[in-house]
Amino acid sequence: MPSAVLELAGVRKRYDSLVAVDDLHLTLEAGEFLTLLGPSGSGKTTTLMMVAGLQQPDAGRIMLNGVSVADLPAYRRDVGMVFQNYALFPHMTVRRNVAFPLEMRGTPAGEIARLVDEALALVKLPDHGGRLPKQLSGGQQQRVALARAMVYRPALLLMDEPLGALDRKLREQLQLEIKRVHRERGISVLYVTHDQEEALTMSDRIAVFDKGRIEQIGTPEELYDRPATRFVASFIGDTNLIGGRVLGVADGVCEIETAAGRIAASARTPLDAGSAVVVAVRPERVVLAPVQTGGAGLEGVIVEQVFLGTSRKYVVRLADGAEVVVLRPISDPPFAQAAPAVRVSWAADKATAFGG
Ligand code: ADP
Ligand code: MG
Repeated sequence: MPSAVLELAGVRKRYDSLVAVDDLHLTLEAGEFLTLLGPSGSGKTTTLMMVAGLQQPDAGRIMLNGVSVADLPAYRRDVGMVFQNYALFPHMTVRRNVAFPLEMRGTPAGEIARLVDEALALVKLPDHGGRLPKQLSGGQQQRVALARAMVYRPALLLMDEPLGALDRKLREQLQLEIKRVHRERGISVLYVTHDQEEALTMSDRIAVFDKGRIEQIGTPEELYDRPATRFVASFIGDTNLIGGRVLGVADGVCEIETAAGRIAASARTPLDAGSAVVVAVRPERVVLAPVQTGGAGLEGVIVEQVFLGTSRKYVVRLADGAEVVVLRPISDPPFAQAAPAVRVSWAADKATAFGG
């Protein structure tokens, strides 16, 4: 039997005329770290709020551990929550903050002391129990919020942009810590971010949101290498988008005519000959060769070379003026002369054609 901790089926939510969440289907397996990734206003927070019981869906079903939560108020749902703004009780010490959910549940005092010690050790703040929130840094406060959300061992941890208010270095450090806690506790996590790098780093699977709908759900690798839509291709990672016209499709490979030459890409949806397409290809999947080499690909001129340490970035201007960004390992020899004429190409299975 599949062990889904959370299941959303046909969930909808509107605010007046605005559809915030539209026919959402989502399953989170036990121990999974699933991230809702999407631009601001795409419905991520609304989805989390409905799971937590702080918003009511207009339609659909939400199941926690196989049981519908429709009639369960927020405080009776077995979920922990961490928000962007720490929301610690300012007048309580760190210990009391972390103990609070246990006190609410009537846990015996001895047990509370033990669980609080354990939670503070887990977030690496064992000696900070006596402090007030204002005596901690932003990152430390967010770790206390994490300890408080997990201390009663909820079936599911909901986190809404928990690192959004922190600077980059601290954010990256806490990303790794949250992952460590997730691993050590085997806890199930539904995480929200608008930061694609954060989502790629942390998640077992990512659901890409746009306008209240899931565009694609899959592992970071799947989303990165096989985006299902143009939105996913451009929202995740850096992508070249090259316009052209379909010559034909055979065995899932689409041949495309462009102003700068012929190219090929994977076709994951039906594409008619003669129709307009956009090809998405990652900079590191593009191969560069001197134009004299011949073969398939697009002809252009290197107009920029940038040394990036582990790689070198090239900007190639094509015959029609469009630019292609290329990322090559630093071990590839650089082009010595100024503005060399080159041919850019890629393996067809490393690029995707989307109907324009
Ligand atoms: P996200 O978390 O992805 O930024 P939200 O779920 O917060 O998106 O919002 C989705 C849409 O619903 C947005 O257009 C937002 O303005 C709207 N919205 C969110 N909460 C409310 C509310 N309480 N009342 C009216 N509109 C809301
Ligand atoms: Mg939000």
